[in-house]
Amino acid sequence: MVAGRSGRSTRGAVSRGPGSLGHGRAGQPGWPAPDGARWPVDLGDGGIAGAFSSRLGGCSTGPFASLNLGFGVGDEPRAVEENARRFAAAAGFPSGGVATVGQVHGVAVLPVTGPGAAGTADGLCTDVPGVVLAIGVADCAALFLADPVRRAVALCHAGWRGTAGGIGPAAVEQLALRFGSRPADIRACVSPCIGACCYEVDMPVIEAFGERAAVWLPARPGHARLDIAQSNRLQLERAGVPAARIAVAGLCTACHPEWLFSHRRDHGRTGRMRAALWLR
Ligand SMILES: [Zn+2]
Repeated sequence: MVAGRSGRSTRGAVSRGPGSLGHGRAGQPGWPAPDGARWPVDLGDGGIAGAFSSRLGGCSTGPFASLNLGFGVGDEPRAVEENARRFAAAAGFPSGGVATVGQVHGVAVLPVTGPGAAGTADGLCTDVPGVVLAIGVADCAALFLADPVRRAVALCHAGWRGTAGGIGPAAVEQLALRFGSRPADIRACVSPCIGACCYEVDMPVIEAFGERAAVWLPARPGHARLDIAQSNRLQLERAGVPAARIAVAGLCTACHPEWLFSHRRDHGRTGRMRAALWLR
C-alpha cells in the first residue's frame, strides 16, 4: 500500500510517487494569500457561502497569535471570543448564528436546525438558511459540501481518523438521505490541512484505513506520508461527487506558519482555524 516498497497495493488505495499529486492536479496552485482574517471558499453561486480563517487579524498573542479560534487550547477565552467576532465580521455571517459540535475524530454528521452546540460529532448538515455550520481545525481538513439544487450544506472535520472512517462519503450520504441531494449536484472544497510533505504516519495509522481509499507517498520503512487532502478528494469522487466540482486548497498548514496554525509543527501548543459554511 506504500508506493515504492512492497509492490503490493491494498485494494481501494492509491499510491503515488514523489512529486506526483495525482489526478491531473500536479502543479495546481494553492490558494492565494488570505484576505486578512479569512479565505473565501468558492462554492458556486447557489446562494451558499463559506469561509476558512487564517491566523491573521486577531488579538491573541504568543503561540496563539493572532486569530486563534479554539477555546480550550490555553488561550485567553475573551481573546478567542473577540477573534470569533472578527472572523464572523470578515466572513460576513452573524456570530450569533453559529452551530458547532464537540469534535471527537469520528464520522458522525449531525443535522442542525439552529445555532448552538449540536452534540458530539465531526460533521454538521442543514437546509436552514442563516444557520452557520462551524468546525475547528489545526492540521485536519475541513470538508465543505454544498448542494445548490436542494439547497443543503454539510461541513466536516477530517483528520486521519475521520478520513480513515470515510467522513466525506458519510456526509454525502447524509445530504442524500435527509435532503434528497444527488451526489452529482454537490460542490466540494477541501481546506488547507497538513500536507504529505509534512505528515509521516506509522503502521497503526496506515492499517486503520483498511480498504478505504487513501493517497500515500513513500517514507522510511514502517511509515508512509499521508495526503489527507487528496485522500478526501478521492473518497468524495468515489461517493459520486464529480471530479470537476471538487476543489482542493493545496496549502500545507505546517509549511505556512505565516498564515496557518499547525498542531504537528508547533508540537501541540498552537491555535485553531475555523471553517464556516451557510445558506444565505
Ligand atoms: Zn508541508
